[in-house]
Amino acid sequence: MKKKKSEEVQVDPLAWLEGDDPFGLNDPIELVNFVCTECKKNDEVPAYIIGEFMVDKKPGEPVTLECPYCNGEMFEAKDDPSE
Ligand SMILES: [Zn+2]
Repeated sequence: MKKKKSEEVQVDPLAWLEGDDPFGLNDPIELVNFVCTECKKNDEVPAYIIGEFMVDKKPGEPVTLECPYCNGEMFEAKDDPSE
């Protein structure tokens, strides 16, 4: 008789979304400001999206996104004290 080894892992990957909100999804989404190096436009990106991009990155490597306006490279905008 084969016992399913995955019995305990057999969890709907989205089940936690309906759970106790362990990731604070009911909180306002944190937005991170990205700025394009080409056209200098800004785009606010939800932090969880950036987290997904970081998976492919080495530690310390900056996350870059594709600019929706010009397809250039967008970097996270550093906090500007003048704002
Ligand atoms: Zn751009």
